Amino acid sequence: MPHPLDLLDVDDTLSDDERAVRESARRFVDDHVLPLMAAAYRDGRFPWQLAPGLAQLGLLGAPLSTHGCAGLSPVAYWLALAELERADSGLRSFASVQTSLVMFPLSKFGSEAQKDRWLPQLRDASVVGCFGLTEPDAGSDPAALRTLATPVGAGWKLTGTKRWITNGTRADLALIWAKTAAADVDGKSIRGFLVQKGTPGFSQTAIVHKQSFRCSDTAELHLDDVVVGADALLPGTRGLGSALSCLAEARSGIAMGVTGAADACLSATLAFVADRPSFGRPLAGHQLVQEKLANMAVDLSMAKLLSLRMGRLKEQGKLQPVQISIGKMNNVRTCLGIARTCRELLGANGITDDYPVMRHMCNLETVYTYEGTHDVHSLVVGAFLTGHPAFGR
Ligand code: FAD
Repeated sequence: MPHPLDLLDVDDTLSDDERAVRESARRFVDDHVLPLMAAAYRDGRFPWQLAPGLAQLGLLGAPLSTHGCAGLSPVAYWLALAELERADSGLRSFASVQTSLVMFPLSKFGSEAQKDRWLPQLRDASVVGCFGLTEPDAGSDPAALRTLATPVGAGWKLTGTKRWITNGTRADLALIWAKTAAADVDGKSIRGFLVQKGTPGFSQTAIVHKQSFRCSDTAELHLDDVVVGADALLPGTRGLGSALSCLAEARSGIAMGVTGAADACLSATLAFVADRPSFGRPLAGHQLVQEKLANMAVDLSMAKLLSLRMGRLKEQGKLQPVQISIGKMNNVRTCLGIARTCRELLGANGITDDYPVMRHMCNLETVYTYEGTHDVHSLVVGAFLTGHPAFGR
């Protein structure tokens, strides 16, 4: 018999190793994360005390196989991300940023000295990293970013502002994407620089009063003529494409990650409608309710199949950017729709934090927007289908 959250028995196609990774992440989430999540969200703080536990599970930098990293397969790693997202999208984002947006670029574009220095510390969470691409006036169009890196002496001077940066207040190490030519309009001169907390002129300010991602650390980073050495430059970075390749890594995991948030919503809702009396029977016995449940369970199973297919393509080195866009746009839309319908089925109870549903729903609004908005991914697919990029200058 298939599980209600896995009607197509996707689980049956997983390897024993993949199931084992998921199981250890699941236990960690059940025992250590879920008990504190609602309060952390209410208080608007990221539960930093969980970071060493995630490191011990081998989840930070998990797809890498050097510098003591776990070398997990894409599917095993993404299944673990889905478990983290079953708790909260903010927790999954912490791991995604550390892994795909800081450790991955270091391993792909960094010097041997940079890798040897930073990867072990990022892996064991003694150093937290962040990825600074977005700016107050450059989000979907990162080629328009204005942060400038000017050569000074043997190093560089960085000037600009980054906004909406996950892990940004706490980060010991910021990967800052900056133009090295002021007149560059298409982002060809963009390169990545490592900036350490405490460097003169570098400040990290929390963005507060968020209604989504309340237990994620989101910051504005100010670079006021920050002088760094030549060794701050990631030597392999060459233009905006280098930054975008990191985002492609992170997005592919998001497609499976968000199914964890939908799992949490649907499982809470199935339990709720089984008990809640309405017109002389449980809510679960009404036809309209069953139709909503059926649609959600089918949509969730399809999203799981899609992300599993992406994982198998990635294992074979065949996953294409357009397929990553399909996974990100479809699965986030699907899971956000599930969260909204679950909220509806819970009625008034759905707006409280006695249930995790509204929290997941609000979080998924962020996931819909970051790592390429839903519309921008639609345009990527549209450009692939038609040969006419609709978002260029
Ligand atoms: P805009 O680009 O201004 O878009 C606004 C709306 O216009 C969207 O609906 C968009 O789809 C639409 N739109 C834009 N261009 C077009 C077009 N050509 N055609 C049609 N519609 C269009 N960034 C980082 O660099 N690092 C991080 O760690 C990070 N973490 C984040 C965490 C959170 C909680 C949030 C909310 C954001 C984070 N971001 C981060 C930023 C995120 O990537 C951007 O918000 C995203 O790229 C969208 O940019 P924007 O918000 O400026 O929206």
